[in-house]
Amino acid sequence: MTAIILKPGREKSLLRRHPWIFSGAIASVSGKPQAGETVEVKSANNGLLGLGAWSPDSQIRVRMWSFESQDIIDSEFFHARLERAIEARERLHLDAITNAYRLVNAESDGLPGIVIDRYEEFLVCQFLTTGAEFWKRDIVEQLTQLLPSRGIYERSDVDVRQKEGLQPVSGVLTGEDPPDTIEIQEGDCRFYVDIKHGHKTCFYLDQRENRAAIIEFAHDAEVLNCFSYTGGFGIRALKAGAKKITNIDSSAASLDLARRNTELNQLETGSVENVTGDVFHILRDYRDENRQFDLIVLDPPKFAESKDQLKKAARGYKDINLLAFKLLKPGGVLFTFSCSGLMEESLFQKIVADAALDAVRDAQMIRRLTQAADHPTALNFPEGSYLKGMICRAW
Ligand code: SAH
Repeated sequence: MTAIILKPGREKSLLRRHPWIFSGAIASVSGKPQAGETVEVKSANNGLLGLGAWSPDSQIRVRMWSFESQDIIDSEFFHARLERAIEARERLHLDAITNAYRLVNAESDGLPGIVIDRYEEFLVCQFLTTGAEFWKRDIVEQLTQLLPSRGIYERSDVDVRQKEGLQPVSGVLTGEDPPDTIEIQEGDCRFYVDIKHGHKTCFYLDQRENRAAIIEFAHDAEVLNCFSYTGGFGIRALKAGAKKITNIDSSAASLDLARRNTELNQLETGSVENVTGDVFHILRDYRDENRQFDLIVLDPPKFAESKDQLKKAARGYKDINLLAFKLLKPGGVLFTFSCSGLMEESLFQKIVADAALDAVRDAQMIRRLTQAADHPTALNFPEGSYLKGMICRAW
């Protein structure tokens, strides 16, 4: 088998079972591995450290499949990893709450580059790396054996594939073509999702527990749901007794689903205002109009894709949080999030604190929030922890 040999000392992170090897850590390559092919990973003194997938175009040149040198990377290996991930979800007893959840969370489930989500009777996958792409057919076959489904659909139409030298792709992998929308359940709410065109794999499953957390603050509240997507936080709040919801999103298609989701839950459509536009501008308009809300949600997209975007991202978070604090009634509650993995929790907290200060509001954090339990973080892979949030009250 082809092997890569690391520079002296660069085995340290592998001994801690971190699954990424950057190009700069590699001293030499013996043989000519193809993209995605399994390679042996050896230390400078030739000790076998494990097996990984070769990514010639990526800065992350190898992603480790296994740190057990006797392992063989084949269909059986993927069967076992998938089985373990699925069993871990069964032990969360999510079926009592929802029929849409993450089954496989990439590196954190020992399957770098592979994301598998369940939506009712369909499975939706992303194969984000050369290694994942290389084993795609085998993985789909093992998945079919492990879990019955109406169909498995691929949504690998994401930019990160370019870093791996892969084209974006989407389409049916096996089984039925999913209908334009299907219904999923989340708590006492139902949502239409569009498997083929929705964001990510079609729904922000990572926010499930945080959408549930809004319930205890929703009664009689006037809610501003910024970056609403298809209305998730708003629908849950309305169902829990909120008086009025204003959803803001730049995507008209998402707001169209938000409107349909309001009807689906037999909620008063008159109590929902859907505003298509840029949150940064609309919050300024609301400030100028002296509008006030009991509860505000800020769930923006990822502002920092790379380290050099962190400063700009910080300014973005500061801006919207400052405006949100100004729009809160005394005693009002802010749910604020960052899904930029590069933004550390402590920095995010500082930005929100600065925003409250500049808005001249006394604010306290009531609770920290994170990604849902079906999106675990392997302890050897802290990068897997990307979603952070806080519930704050402002006076
Ligand atoms: N809270 C949602 C998920 C939000 S994802 C849920 O629970 O389902 C982020 C959303 O922000 C996307 O729907 C995207 O269309 C929207 N968005 C991105 N930039 C925006 C902007 N500048 N103004 C308004 N919406 C924006």
